[in-house]
Amino acid sequence: YQAKDDGSGVRTYAAEDDPHDARRLSLLADLPAAIREDQLVLDYQPKVRASDGAVVSLEALVRWQHPERGLLSPAAFIELAERTALIAPLTEWVLRTATRQTASWRADGFLGTVSVNVSARVLLDSTFPAMVESALADSGLPATALEVEITETAVAADLDRARRVLGWLRSLGVRIAIDDFGAGYTCLAHLRLLPVDQLKIDRSFIQALESIDTQPSDEAVVRSLLLLAHELGLDVVAEGVEDTATGSRLFELGCDQIQGFAYYRPLSPSAATAVLSEAHPRGAGQDPRVTSASC
Ligand code: C2E
Ligand code: MG
Ligand code: MG
Ligand code: MG
Repeated sequence: YQAKDDGSGVRTYAAEDDPHDARRLSLLADLPAAIREDQLVLDYQPKVRASDGAVVSLEALVRWQHPERGLLSPAAFIELAERTALIAPLTEWVLRTATRQTASWRADGFLGTVSVNVSARVLLDSTFPAMVESALADSGLPATALEVEITETAVAADLDRARRVLGWLRSLGVRIAIDDFGAGYTCLAHLRLLPVDQLKIDRSFIQALESIDTQPSDEAVVRSLLLLAHELGLDVVAEGVEDTATGSRLFELGCDQIQGFAYYRPLSPSAATAVLSEAHPRGAGQDPRVTSASC
């Protein structure tokens, strides 16, 4: 959205003179056909184990190959879809595609998981459980190979319901990650009550470590997040790591997994297949990276 400076230094949003509004609305109108006609595509960004760089999971990230507008990033349409019921069929498409793809990678020896981003609206929707069950059943992917990433706001929106849905997912064996952790206003007491397996430290904290004027307090924040998460029995993933020196430092601090451009960018399915076959050569079952992909 366009923000306008009204002179007081306060930036306000005026819908009526937003030149992008019509454009966005027409994008929304195109979305149902995009889902039906397979204009959506998934990239997969590896999460690597901090200790040895093994790929333990692949996060599915949606893109839209729009016939007129070219390749659109999720920033262009996810929020829009979230404001309508369209986020549900979109998420269903992502779940079906990601589970099918991952079942095929696992048939070729991959022992890791796939992560799917699920918005609050979908998590709390009554159709969500059936969506997950049918994606798992149709793909043949074991529930333990699926990870769901939700944000703090998803949980805060309706804590009781979120707890019930997450508990149900967990009982199937699905892993649960809190995405962008620290970016919102998480009530730590809530976190303690939720069935969660993993925290993904928000990129802003990692950027602070990587910035040229990083402060000792920036590392103190990350260190405390790690301490807290580990006290609660959670795995910690650092997201948005752009240099390997930061990756090494995060490993020293006890971070379990790392994700970021320094390791892998989001990959097309075929590029991901190439990365996985490199890490898990067929018949080379003695590769230590192949034998213990669970973290
Ligand atoms: P996210 O789930 O927090 O995903 C991480 C985003 O950061 C991705 O952007 C990824 O490409 C980017 N990223 C990864 N490593 C680095 C790095 O080292 N540096 C920088 N600068 N960026 C990095 P992307 O793919 O544009 O996705 C943006 C957001 O869109 C995601 O944030 C997620 O919230 C949402 N999203 C993507 N796919 C889906 C989906 O299938 N469903 C839903 N509901 N949301 C999705
Ligand atoms: Mg995510
Ligand atoms: Mg994230
Ligand atoms: Mg993020």
